[in-house]
Amino acid sequence: MLHTDKKIRLFRCFTSALERLNPYPYPLHINNLFGNLILSWQGENFSGREVRDIWKRFIASPEYARRKDTLNLYIGTPFCSSKCKYCIYFKNAAASPAELSRYVAALLQSVKYNKEALAGGVFKHVYFGGGTPSLFEARQLGDICSVVRENIKVSPDGDRVLEVNPRSVTREKLDAAATFFNNLSIGVQSLDHRVLKHMGRGRQTFKMVQKTVEDGRKAGFKYISLDLLRGLYGDNGRPFLESFKKTLSLSPDLIRVYPVMPSNVYLKEFHETSLKKFLLHIRSHKQWLAAAGELADKTGYIMSRSRVPMSSRFITFRRNPSAPEGYTFRSEAAVQSVFGLGHHANSYINGVLEYHSTPLKGQPGQNIYRGMKISKIDEMRRYVLAGFSGSETVSEEKFEKIFHTGLRGVFKREIAELSAMDKLLFSAAGFSLRPSDPRERLACAMFFVDFECLAGYIKNIIAEGKRRDSDPPDPD
Ligand code: SF4
Repeated sequence: MLHTDKKIRLFRCFTSALERLNPYPYPLHINNLFGNLILSWQGENFSGREVRDIWKRFIASPEYARRKDTLNLYIGTPFCSSKCKYCIYFKNAAASPAELSRYVAALLQSVKYNKEALAGGVFKHVYFGGGTPSLFEARQLGDICSVVRENIKVSPDGDRVLEVNPRSVTREKLDAAATFFNNLSIGVQSLDHRVLKHMGRGRQTFKMVQKTVEDGRKAGFKYISLDLLRGLYGDNGRPFLESFKKTLSLSPDLIRVYPVMPSNVYLKEFHETSLKKFLLHIRSHKQWLAAAGELADKTGYIMSRSRVPMSSRFITFRRNPSAPEGYTFRSEAAVQSVFGLGHHANSYINGVLEYHSTPLKGQPGQNIYRGMKISKIDEMRRYVLAGFSGSETVSEEKFEKIFHTGLRGVFKREIAELSAMDKLLFSAAGFSLRPSDPRERLACAMFFVDFECLAGYIKNIIAEGKRRDSDPPDPD
């Protein structure tokens, strides 16, 4: 067993290798750490048929029977009309109409192929995201709604969220989607033209957003939310407040404000590759956020910070108290399962398997899924990391309720090592990380990752780095 100081040296080596080789500054993306570690290092391929059989066994298992309300459906869209510069979710630029049709056909085939395996399950929440689901034609959205409804049992009281981009959505598309979806999430990001232009969204206008809200109401969505970003380049805080005011004027049921989660490319273009500069910029927004809170309060909105551990830290302003504060999709990372439909849709079978799909083939049985089997101890590690990623206290009581054993017993060594370095804060509710610096938080979180897995992953990324260094340079 390595001593603590050797581990720290190893974690530093890991962090710098990651930062050099990955598109995202990892200290800010701690929530991705675990998934990336397990999928990249030990991943194996599963066929569509194998995955279907695993789901069938899971849905028939006593574990699922004990937690009926924990099954969710995610539908992914790997297309956008163009890439917004800040985006870490963008997959492929504008698909041709033929490509979109092929994708929808493969998606629908996939639903039918898995129908029998999923027959005993009831899906609580559904999320259709991406990418940009509003790129599909109204007819295609209608087909997706009816095929999902006819082949998969969905709980009547869950959130069924459709993400749309104001630029590509129409009243007709919303009417088609409202036959199944009850929540409309409109990606606005900013209403300042200069900020939008910097980010490659210059063609979005306030009128488009206004019309989307009006059309969403007419189409019958129960809740309409507008999503804004804070900390975009060019936004010194004042444009954010102006955007927020305009957003309030549309009286949505809720407004969600996310911090920008930059990629390394974004940092390079706007913050001279410096994570520190980016963090300074985003911290300078604090006062503007407080001003937005006051405005919201006067207008009858309730402000709350997200308690969703696997998400980035977003802030919600709700006009309607019954509107969901955040998407409950993976809010209980240690107990929930997600059936992902579509390319790049991550799937997760609690305590069994995590996987994502490669591009969809015509025949669902021939699709290849990259994933890894998950054990109970993996779930426990994930529970702790999820708590750290949301800057929340890791609740010992909840841990015991989920896993029927004590957290301090399972992670005795990790807790002792971090405590010896004074990195943990203990309270009646549990414990949290003391450092606020993202790099240090990441290094502390690594104590809870399986050590062999970490060492194997480091070897892989160093080998990858050497391979890249020896690649011939681009001709230009
Ligand atoms: S922000 Fe939305 S529309 Fe822009 S690239 Fe990302 S997923 Fe696509």
